[in-house]
Amino acid sequence: MSTLPSSIDVAIVGAGAAGIGAATRLRQAGVSALMIEARDRVGGRAHTIPAAGDVIDLGCEWLHSANKNVLVQVAEAHGFTVDRGTPGWSGPASVGLPSRDHAEYRQALSDFFDAVEEAAATGRDRPASELLPKNSRWEMLLRAVATYYSGTELEHISIIDFDNYEDTQINWTVREGYGAMIAGAAKGLPVVFDCAVSKIDHAGKSVKLETQRGTIEAKAAIVCVPTPLIADSTLRFDPALPAKQAAAAGLPLGVADKIFFEIEGDFSYPRGHFYGATDRVETFSFDMFPRGRKLLSGFYGGAFAVELEKAGPAAAEAEARRQIVAVLGADANRRLRFMRTTAWRSDPFARGGYSSALPGHVGDRQILAAPVDGRLFFAGEACSKIHFSTAHGAWETGVKAAEDYLGAR
Ligand SMILES: Cc1cc2nc3c(=O)[nH]c(=O)nc-3n(C[C@H](O)[C@H](O)[C@H](O)COP(=O)(O)OP(=O)(O)OC[C@H]3O[C@@H](n4cnc5c(N)ncnc54)[C@H](O)[C@@H]3O)c2cc1C
Repeated sequence: MSTLPSSIDVAIVGAGAAGIGAATRLRQAGVSALMIEARDRVGGRAHTIPAAGDVIDLGCEWLHSANKNVLVQVAEAHGFTVDRGTPGWSGPASVGLPSRDHAEYRQALSDFFDAVEEAAATGRDRPASELLPKNSRWEMLLRAVATYYSGTELEHISIIDFDNYEDTQINWTVREGYGAMIAGAAKGLPVVFDCAVSKIDHAGKSVKLETQRGTIEAKAAIVCVPTPLIADSTLRFDPALPAKQAAAAGLPLGVADKIFFEIEGDFSYPRGHFYGATDRVETFSFDMFPRGRKLLSGFYGGAFAVELEKAGPAAAEAEARRQIVAVLGADANRRLRFMRTTAWRSDPFARGGYSSALPGHVGDRQILAAPVDGRLFFAGEACSKIHFSTAHGAWETGVKAAEDYLGAR
């Protein structure tokens, strides 16, 4: 859609997984809805691009809890191929961490999760860092892995929120890319691009949305933008919604980024996963030949990712190469052609990777998700109590917000 209509039944702010889930459900119910999207594409933090004769996912890649993931069926219904292979990162490291050490580390991780579960059951919230094993050889790797899970350090994570996350440990992928699949699911749904919403006036019976392309009036709005944009009033409400704003601030986005190298020529190293280091938090989680592609990809999170985003792609490349050389040697490094990094924190319409609740803020997910006056509804990964930080969690909250609207009509 190239122009903004003056009115619509339901305005959906943001065409990420949550917005597309909401639009899909409303279309099924025969309700006219329009996604209003700030970018020139759908998908948000789900984004697949062509690379190295194949595709890469810059954002979400894994269908987590795949045996229960609603998007498996959505993918197959839209003609995408679900690859039921096991991720490299879920098994032993292919190099750099002997299998006995890996088993010891997995035990430390499992003990940490048990400690979180036990502490969460008391109902007394506190930072997850308090449950780290004392004087453990694996403390730094546990801390690093937490930044992959949550995009932030354990000091900033509520143990109850961490424990609420539901994970069946089964992870699949979409052959054509997770982002491509989410965009495929949006095909045919009405959307207007390059149209950031700056204010939602909900004082009257209808809601009025001020956008980059003018004002649109709707019976209701479903707000599906990342939490930082609500917390810092990039998207404002009139009358103001201080409880929503505070809840969004209690659910900040951590940072997760990726780096990609193309593998050139012969590369006789074992396929699979390895860590850049196991004795420091600032480490990449690398995958060689992920799903058979001639790539080496690295995942990194937390303060380390923030620092590398600030320093720029050349600094991230240099640090990744330094860690690769330390594990694989200089010859392997020479066969890698740098492709790109991501910078989700610097992305003005994302501002980070995914949400976690600050200690003491586990209830903020419910506050953020609660409808206002039967006219304003909220969705997005941060609104999910058990599937937060994921694309399927975002989709589910979009469907739920659409159903709440249908119930409130
Ligand atoms: C590096 C990385 C790896 C990840 N890996 C996985 C994974 O393997 N599996 C998984 O399930 N999840 C993963 N995730 C998380 C997953 O991508 C997100 O949780 C999910 O895509 C969020 O969907 P959403 O709809 O809530 O938000 P978004 O996708 O952020 O959508 C929000 C939309 O709102 C738009 N918007 C923002 N502001 C405005 C405005 N003012 N007006 C109009 N539009 C606006 C944005 O442009 C965006 O399109 C990963 C994320 C990152 C960054």
